[in-house]
This record gives sequence, structure tokens and C-alpha cells, in this order.
Amino acid sequence: LEYQTPVSSKPRYVRVNTLKMDIDTAMHELGKATTVMKDDLVPDMLVVPTGTDLHDHPLVMNGSVFLQGKASSMVAVALCPKPGWQVLDACAAPGNKTAHLAALMRGQGKIIACELNEERVKVLRTSITKSGAHNVDIIHGDFLKLDTKDPKFSKVCAILLDPSCSGSGISAERLDNLLPSYSQDNDIDAAKSQRVKKLAAFQRKALVHALSFPAVERVVYSTCSIHQTENEDVIKSVLPFAASRNFELATPFPQWPRRGLPVFEGSEHLLRTDPTEDVEGFFIALFVRKQFKKKILR
Ligand code: SAM
Repeated sequence: LEYQTPVSSKPRYVRVNTLKMDIDTAMHELGKATTVMKDDLVPDMLVVPTGTDLHDHPLVMNGSVFLQGKASSMVAVALCPKPGWQVLDACAAPGNKTAHLAALMRGQGKIIACELNEERVKVLRTSITKSGAHNVDIIHGDFLKLDTKDPKFSKVCAILLDPSCSGSGISAERLDNLLPSYSQDNDIDAAKSQRVKKLAAFQRKALVHALSFPAVERVVYSTCSIHQTENEDVIKSVLPFAASRNFELATPFPQWPRRGLPVFEGSEHLLRTDPTEDVEGFFIALFVRKQFKKKILR
């Protein structure tokens, strides 16, 4: 049996790196190669037709635009970082969301990007250099081992946590799920489910750690998984801890129709994207500290 990547009938997305180029110039330049439209939800996001291959386009090569999907680009926007903030990107490589944070902060303030894997740190460094961001400090280390009381984190007010996950929301993994069934199918399923449980245990620990930084006011948790175990279940399991630190769930992109699976009260705050309808299957949760909400309203 041969499996071929299905030709998606969905559009492709391009994120304009506003540190290097404004959206109208990017539209004009890309418009010479293909039809381009602005996305109606995510700022600085352009939509190009199905099958458009921009990998070798000069704007991609020089970091003026990133080939980053719409769902993936919703994560940094959900955190809503402001210029001048100190922001921690907990699991940062390859750095798409770090570069996006830098653009949203207009290069002002500080981003601390943490990554465990040495090879991936190199990729992260390359992405940051390409993005033109000069306010990113890279830490090669384990996010779980960062000391929340270290003075260098005392002003971190927002954390983006996009931990390792099963990747079941992206097409390669779904294709993997379509592999032909042989006798060891049950073993494969059991191994997969064990892996997802292990990942969820790490994701939960990382989320609790993120909520423990003394000055943090906003935490975004995201995965590119469609499994409840890595998504709603992780959020549900940290709710008592989050409440003890005065955090509550807020609603990223309230106008977005797909919300969390209804497995606990408040899951409507969560956001899901559908792997087929929205190209990629992502999950986003946003925690906000209660007094911070009041501060914004004042
Ligand atoms: N946010 C990235 C982006 O948008 O480009 C993708 C992050 S990827 C889903 C997860 C990353 O977390 C991987 O690069 C992995 O090596 C890293 N990672 C896993 N465990 C970690 C840990 N304990 N501390 C820091 N990074 C970790």
C-alpha cells in the first residue's frame, strides 16, 4: 500500500514579520507571485491559494515573512504581549512563536526563550537572527528547572508555554494514524496512549511551573494535539492550583466558534482548531491573574 499526502483544499497562511516589513508591502511583493488576501481574524496574517509554494521566496529567505499557520499564529496573539513587557517563551524552538512575540512587542521589552534540546537551540538562534529581533535572551536548559525566584525572572509578566506534544493535530501524524492495520495494532495503540500520558504528565508539570513565577499575570498554554488528555485534561487538573494563585481562565478569540470539549465547567473558555477545517489542530488555553484583569479595566 502506498500513502500519498492528500492535496489539501485549504488555503495556506503566511505571517508577516512586522519587525522587517509592513503588511501592505508584503502583500504587494507576494502579490507578484500569487493571489494574496488579508486574514480576517489574525493580524499580520496573509492567505494564499492552496498549493502555493513560497519556500524559496526571497521574503521567506530573508525573514520578512514566516510560513507559519494560522492556528499556530493565534497562540502569541492570545498572550497579547505589549511592547516593554518581559515575556518568557518556555519551550521555544524552532522559534516561530518567539519571533512572533518579538514582532507583537515591536522589538521593545525583553523575551527570554528557553529550550532544552541543544540542536534545536541552534535552530532557535537562526530563527531569531532571521527575524531581526534584538531583545531575545536564549537559555539552553530545562524550563522545569528554572528557579522562579531567580531575580532575572522577577519581572516576567507573561509566559507562552508550547510544550512538546504528540503532534496529533498536524497532518504528518494523522497520516501516521492511517497506516495499514496489522496484527500488532493493539500494541501500537497501547504504546501511543502511553506516550500521550507521559507527555501529559510533563505538560501538567510545565503548566504548574509557569503559573508559579512571582510576577506572571498571563499564561498561554498551547499544543498541536487533538487529544483531550493533552488539552482539556491538563487544564482541568491544574485548575485548583491556578485558583490558589488567583488565576482564572480567560477567553482567547471570543469570536472563534470552536471551543474546548465540554468536560468541565468553564471549558468554553478554551479554544480548539480543527485539523481538517482549519488546516491544523491546535489547542489554546489562557490563564489571567484576577487583579490584572481589574488593572486593565481601570
Ligand atoms: N514554540 C515553538 C514554535 O512555535 O516554534 C515550538 C515548540 S515545540 C512544540 C516544543 C519544544 O519544547 C521542543 O523544541 C522541545 O525540545 C522543547 N522542550 C521539551 N522539553 C523541554 C523542557 N523541559 N524545557 C525546555 N524546552 C523543552
